[in-house]
Amino acid sequence: MPTKYVCLGCPLTFEVGWFHHIFRNGYASKTLLVCVSCGTQHAVENAVSDRGPESFQYFTAYLTAAPPAARVQVMVCLRHHFRLDLAGAREALKALPYRIGSDLSREGAEALAAPYRAAGATVEIVLIRESPNPEYGPVQSDRLLVRDAPPPDGGLWRELAVAGANASLDLERQACGNCRKTGVLVSEWTDGRSCPACGGVIQGQGTWMT
Ligand SMILES: [Zn+2]
Ligand SMILES: [Zn+2]
Repeated sequence: MPTKYVCLGCPLTFEVGWFHHIFRNGYASKTLLVCVSCGTQHAVENAVSDRGPESFQYFTAYLTAAPPAARVQVMVCLRHHFRLDLAGAREALKALPYRIGSDLSREGAEALAAPYRAAGATVEIVLIRESPNPEYGPVQSDRLLVRDAPPPDGGLWRELAVAGANASLDLERQACGNCRKTGVLVSEWTDGRSCPACGGVIQGQGTWMT
């Protein structure tokens, strides 16, 4: 939750803190930073470390066989699972293959099949549908951004070069995009610290959520 701060003595305003933003292109959150030396607003777009599978797969699970020795226990599973009466469970076993679940993840289908298999039945898990994951792609590196004009206008976000080649950037090694000092970008403001621009009083204006 970012917090907004204003200077009571000059037009400086800035925000610091972390928030979620729309998951796109491998980024899912942003951390707002300020330079404690000159007051320039910065931000880090935080790359997600896992963009998920290339596609999502959906499975249907069929009960395909229940040998005589397993039938009683399999009927217990069917009755419990589908709230069938005894006659209903018998009918289900006569009508194999019997669909016991659909539109399942692989893990969901395996979990559903487990008690039937433990009872001695055969369950087949069939891939029925596959849809691409729109967020799939290469894992990105964190991006460091700076506001290219002072408040109140603020200008546009401009991307800065990141020191080192780490996906997760080290703020201690980063230079401010404006004053060029290193180790001055912070994501939390210390109460009582005076304005980097004019030495005046900085006042918190509360937090906001996305
Ligand atoms: Zn000020
Ligand atoms: Zn600076």
